[in-house]
Amino acid sequence: MSRILRNFLFLPLLLVALTSWGSDFRVGIGRKTITPEFPIWLNGYAARQTASEGKSYDLWAKALVIEENPHSKVVIVTVDVLGLSREITSQVSDRVFKKYGITRSQLLFNSSHTHAAPVIWPALSGMFNFTPAEFQAVIRYNHQLTDDIVTVIDMAVAGLVPMEIECGHGTAGFGMNRRGTAVTVSDPDVPIIRFSTPAGKIQAILCGYACHNTTLGPDNTLVNGDYSGYAMIELEKVFPGSTAFFITGCGADQGPVPGGTIELAEQNGKTLADAVQKALAGNLHKVRPPIRTDFTTANLEFPPMDLDQYQKDILSDDFYVRNRAKLILEAFNKGWDITRFPYPVQAIRFNKDLTILGMGGEVVVDYSLNMKKQYPDENLFVAGYCSEVTCYIPSLRILKEGGYEANSSMIFYGLPGPFSDNVEDLVTAAIHKVMKGTGAKK
Ligand SMILES: [Zn+2]
Repeated sequence: MSRILRNFLFLPLLLVALTSWGSDFRVGIGRKTITPEFPIWLNGYAARQTASEGKSYDLWAKALVIEENPHSKVVIVTVDVLGLSREITSQVSDRVFKKYGITRSQLLFNSSHTHAAPVIWPALSGMFNFTPAEFQAVIRYNHQLTDDIVTVIDMAVAGLVPMEIECGHGTAGFGMNRRGTAVTVSDPDVPIIRFSTPAGKIQAILCGYACHNTTLGPDNTLVNGDYSGYAMIELEKVFPGSTAFFITGCGADQGPVPGGTIELAEQNGKTLADAVQKALAGNLHKVRPPIRTDFTTANLEFPPMDLDQYQKDILSDDFYVRNRAKLILEAFNKGWDITRFPYPVQAIRFNKDLTILGMGGEVVVDYSLNMKKQYPDENLFVAGYCSEVTCYIPSLRILKEGGYEANSSMIFYGLPGPFSDNVEDLVTAAIHKVMKGTGAKK
C-alpha cells in the first residue's frame, strides 16, 4: 500500500478521534410516528362515546441510547400513549437483550399518559366494552407498537455519535393537585437533560413534569399528544434538528389547569416548553460516567379477597363494577394469584451528577417529594409512568384519604384494590434497594 493511500485511509480515523476527544459518551436518537392509521378507541376516559375520528398531530415513539463504552449502554424510550403494558415492555426487553445484550435495568420506558392515544391492552380493561372488530383494532395497534419501539431502539443504536450531556432544573406551575382534599401538594420541578455535539449544537432535550397529560377531556376524539406533545413540537421548532423527549413525573394526583380544549393543551405545552428553554439558558452542570443501573420488582399486596362481594358485584347495575367482578372471578377460577401485584422500580445513576428514578404505574406526588428529601445530595429526576402502567400507586396518606387514586380507579383497572396499608412501605423499600444498587447515598 502506498504511503499516500495509507495516509488517506488514516485521515477519517484521525478525524473521528479528534471529534470524539473530550466526550464521555456516545448518544444515539431514534424516532417513529405511532399515529394509528385506522379508527381506534382512545384510552383513559370511561365517558368517551366513540372511537377516534382523525388526528390533531402525530404521536411518537422515541428512543435515546446513551453509551459509556461499547459494553455499557442505557436506553430511554418515551411513548405517546396512556401507559405501556407488561406484555409490551417484556417483549421489547427480551428482543433488545437478544440483539444488544441490554439488560432490563438498562432500559427505561416512559409513557406520556396522553388520554388521546389508542387503548393499550389489557390495562384499564374494566373500562371498555368493545365489539370484536374494535378489539381487533386494539390488538393490531398493540402488536405494531411493540415492533415500532424495537425499531426506534435499533435506529438509536445505529446512530451513536460523541455527545456532551448536561443537566439542570426549571419550574412550571400548571400542574395542580386535583384531589380536593386538605393536602394540596404539587411538584413544580422540570428536570432537564441536554445532549449536544462536542461543538455545542443541541441534538436532544429530555424534560420531565409531574402532571396528568389530560388537558383534553372525553369529548375529544382526535389523536393528540396533549400538552407534552405540543411542548415537544415547540422545542423541536426552537432547536431545529433536535429531538425532544418528555418523561412523565409523579403526577397521578395532579391535573393541568387550565384545561378542556385543544387551544389550552397547546397553551400548557408552550408553558412547559418555555420552562425548559429558561432552564437550558440557566445553570447546567456536566453529567459524567460511570453509569450504574438497578431494577427490582416489589410484590405489592391486596387485602384478603372478599369473594362474596365480587359474586354480588357480578350482578351489579354498574357496567364497570360488573366488569371488574367478572375479570377477578375469572382470574380466581383459573387459580391465578391475584393477592399480589408485581411492581417495577429502577434507577439509572450517572456518577454523582444525576439519578433517574423510574417507577411503574400512576405514582402520586408524595413519592417524588419524599425521595428528593431523603436523597438531598443526589440530583434526582423522579419519573412515574415507567415500565408498565397498570394502576395507581397511592401513598399511605392518599390510601387513608380514599377517593379515585386510592380506590375507585382500581375498578377501571380491573384489580382487586385498594392496596394493603403497607403499599408505601413496600414501594419505598424497593426505591431504597435500587438507589443503593447504583451507589446512591441517603
Ligand atoms: Zn391517569
